Amino acid sequence: QIYELTYMDIRAVMSDTVTLLDAQAILHDIVIETSLGDEPLWVQGVENQLKQVFINVIKNAIEIMMDGGVIEVCCLRDAGGRIIVRIADQGPGIAQEQLVKIGQPFYTTKEKGTGLGLMVSYKIVDNHQGGIEVSSRVGEGTTFDIVLPYTEPKA
Ligand code: ADP
Ligand code: MG
Repeated sequence: QIYELTYMDIRAVMSDTVTLLDAQAILHDIVIETSLGDEPLWVQGVENQLKQVFINVIKNAIEIMMDGGVIEVCCLRDAGGRIIVRIADQGPGIAQEQLVKIGQPFYTTKEKGTGLGLMVSYKIVDNHQGGIEVSSRVGEGTTFDIVLPYTEPKA
């Protein structure tokens, strides 16, 4: 078995991710502020894949915030019981015409970009019966909501 399905508290996965990226953020004058709440947020899935999604989205935020600032990371359950992992940056935002293109293979606006990070992320989250919602205001920033089903471990 190549992909190990486990139950995880997604807050721990996010906490690991932020620890991993903190040094890189600080080099860019960026602070990652996390708010993880105080109830476990259970997800069934492949931990390394979900971690990769968080890394991809947060790295994009770090790369786009040229003047530093704050990246807000928030994990919560919404009114419908779904888990929301929200990553909000203070970057330049994404214009409406470009919003439909992100996540398409090889779409990149970076000189050395691959345009694969978001495509892979969409695929992974889709495989976890979830989705990614993006909202953006040009000049203010972009918010990625990674939505996942809440699945408590079986006793
Ligand atoms: P890459 O990072 O290699 O360019 P991605 O798939 O990760 O590929 O992202 C694709 C494109 O989506 C980026 O080049 C950028 O134009 C846009 N994008 C992604 N995240 C953000 C963000 N937080 N703010 C503004 N644009 C973004
Ligand atoms: Mg990327």
